[in-house]
Amino acid sequence: MLEGVKHVVLVLSGKGGVGKSTVSTQLALTLKEAGFKVGLLDVDLCGPSIPYLLNLEGKDVHQSTKGWVPVYADEEQKLAVMSIGFLLKNRNDGVVWRGPKKTGMIKQFLTDVVWEDIDYLIIDTPPGTSDEHITVMENLRSVKCDGAVIVTTPQAVAVDDVLREVTFCRKTGIPIIGIVENMSGFVCPTCSECTNIFSSGGGQALAEMVKVPFLGRIPIDPAVGKLADKGQSILVTLPDSELARIFRRLIEQI
Ligand code: ADP
Repeated sequence: MLEGVKHVVLVLSGKGGVGKSTVSTQLALTLKEAGFKVGLLDVDLCGPSIPYLLNLEGKDVHQSTKGWVPVYADEEQKLAVMSIGFLLKNRNDGVVWRGPKKTGMIKQFLTDVVWEDIDYLIIDTPPGTSDEHITVMENLRSVKCDGAVIVTTPQAVAVDDVLREVTFCRKTGIPIIGIVENMSGFVCPTCSECTNIFSSGGGQALAEMVKVPFLGRIPIDPAVGKLADKGQSILVTLPDSELARIFRRLIEQI
């Protein structure tokens, strides 16, 4: 149930693999570090990666008289996490469900989970715009959605996908908090020169074109990749990185 939730932020992307779950996780951790109680809901039913990113694989969701108790990522119980990943026996088990079953599960995530006293609920959505997104919006009901953060990589083709996300938000009345351009160049650790492996600036140009805030660029950073590979995101936020600066700016806007 969402009655105790003060803010809701959706994280969207046009494609998979652009860093949407990384951004969702780091945004949740940055908010937690800033002293807020945070919920992180993974509605990417076919590719749930949040339990892996937070080293929570194998944890169980418990049932209480009030509903499903989310998994807490920390001892102080400041970061509550819910994902289909906790309900699957095996990390690699695929979810082969038709629309209604997926819709039912997302509804349960929003209405049956005890999201108690949550300042910010961050919802990591599947790539694209699908039934899952519409179900989320329908089931937020009384809770105001503060808006969406759209994650893209700089290539033109990814940027085209973002245009679809922008259109979706506008049609469904979701305010767009801003666009983050991830994997934007690689900074050489030896000489500090930035090489734009893909083209660059696409996210910013699109943000200007569709008149939404551009939140910033995150370079390809081996440290970010390692956090995921070791499931260490929960232990190591990146306090001085561009990622952290982007999120501080983002928090000011929510
Ligand atoms: P998505 O949720 O869009 O599918 P993920 O957040 O799972 O994408 O990221 C895909 C992969 O890319 C992960 O292995 C992640 O660690 C890595 N990654 C994401 N952003 C960066 C970055 N800025 N630098 C290096 N690796 C990154």
